[in-house]
Amino acid sequence: MDYYPADLLDFICNFNFYGIFAVGSKNINLEMQIKVFKFGGASVKDANGFKNVGEILKLYQQDKLIVVVSAMGKTTNALEEVVKSYYAQDGKVNNLLEEIKNNHFDLINQLFPANNEVTDDINDTFVEIEWILEEPPHEDYDYTYDQIVSIGEMLSSKILNHYLNYLKINTAWMDVRDIILTDNTYRDAKIIWDVTQKNAQNKTKPLFEKYNHLVTQGFIGSTTENFTTTLGREGSDYTAAIMSYCLDASSMHIWKDVPGVLTGDPRIFDEVIMLPRLSYKEAIEMTYYGAKVIHPKTIKPLQNKQIPLYVRPFLDPKSEGTIISDEKELSYPPVIVIEPDQSLLHISTNDFSFAAEHHLSMIFALLAKCRLKVNMMRNTAISFSVCVNTVPDRIKKFEKELGSEFKMVADNDLELITIRHFNEDVLKDMKENKLVLFEERLSETVQIVVRNLPKMKRKDNPNV
Ligand code: ADP
Ligand code: ASP
Ligand code: MG
Repeated sequence: MDYYPADLLDFICNFNFYGIFAVGSKNINLEMQIKVFKFGGASVKDANGFKNVGEILKLYQQDKLIVVVSAMGKTTNALEEVVKSYYAQDGKVNNLLEEIKNNHFDLINQLFPANNEVTDDINDTFVEIEWILEEPPHEDYDYTYDQIVSIGEMLSSKILNHYLNYLKINTAWMDVRDIILTDNTYRDAKIIWDVTQKNAQNKTKPLFEKYNHLVTQGFIGSTTENFTTTLGREGSDYTAAIMSYCLDASSMHIWKDVPGVLTGDPRIFDEVIMLPRLSYKEAIEMTYYGAKVIHPKTIKPLQNKQIPLYVRPFLDPKSEGTIISDEKELSYPPVIVIEPDQSLLHISTNDFSFAAEHHLSMIFALLAKCRLKVNMMRNTAISFSVCVNTVPDRIKKFEKELGSEFKMVADNDLELITIRHFNEDVLKDMKENKLVLFEERLSETVQIVVRNLPKMKRKDNPNV
């Protein structure tokens, strides 16, 4: 070794660290075996959840792991309420924040016998919100939302890191905002991939020389001006995929409160079965149609680098759960995805003229501007209808932007049901007691927009 000049040695070590030797223009991946684990809010909803994460990580002590964690339980929802109350100036904001604080300090008391250091760290993190709340609300709601709501992930990742150190698991805390650079689309920030990739490699390398596990936050990033951004609700899966992509991870693992990906949401359906294997394509389709089990942006970066994704039960860490990879010839049972809270917007021109192409391109531009995701659409001679998630302020803004040339009628309280690999029996079951407003069939997928009908029962009195 001595006869290598220092620079050359450094060069070789640097590349070797990420398992890549540059030979001419070709990269040979020697698989440095970084795995990325993601624990969602359900995995860390209480002290037992944190203890369970500790048990899982004990099984992987020798592995180099990036551990991405979401905010505890329903903390993100609670922080959203803080933001709403702050803007409404309804006097409730301090109580709402107090409740979140209590949850976190109760947790700390349950996890650590002597906890001064942890309590100080968490207190300091809450001070960041308190500073914001002392000022009058900033004109940009989404910007403020991100500065406040992101604290949920800061808190959970700090507590988890302290707890793992307490268990003598070799971990370091890492601020993901030093890695994930985004644009400034607050609440739906877009990744600046080239810088993020460089950051990921540069920041993790020295840490992995000392620590086996790096604990970091899901869901959040940073702009070039160092303002915090969020990647969209449920975005921690996406964070894990970004890290996997940027570090050429050997695999990514999402730990869940379900055995794996199921044929339907077990909160809604009784007889669901687990899908042991899924192709990237199938997973992209399912999540695109709204399957809540994985964030829709998660799969593509993994597919691009052929990184397998395991969706695994956190209560049975020996189980592999569902493996999502480049499988080609799998056949699937019917898979059902339910999207509640849908609105059908029927748009027509006031003079009943044809909804011609120039109108459609304008309508689509407005839908994008108002951040309304089109889940289904239909174009007839004189009207155009779209099914979107019911987000009242965005729908109102869209209607206003359409202007006087158009008329819009909204049908609310609807459900969008998507069945992949459907058969007629399953479709019939799904339509029971429902009024079908829209139905669209593709070769592998049927979608219906429905309204639940009240169950009518005949009265027993025959004279009525
Ligand atoms: P986390 O906090 O880990 O992100 P979530 O609560 O966001 O967990 O997501 C897990 C939940 O997703 C499960 O409890 C389950 O009810 C729901 N879910 C919806 N569709 C599916 C599906 N097809 N397979 C498995 N779980 C599903
Ligand atoms: N905590 C965020 C949310 O609840 C992100 C996530 O859990 O994935 O949306
Ligand atoms: Mg989630």
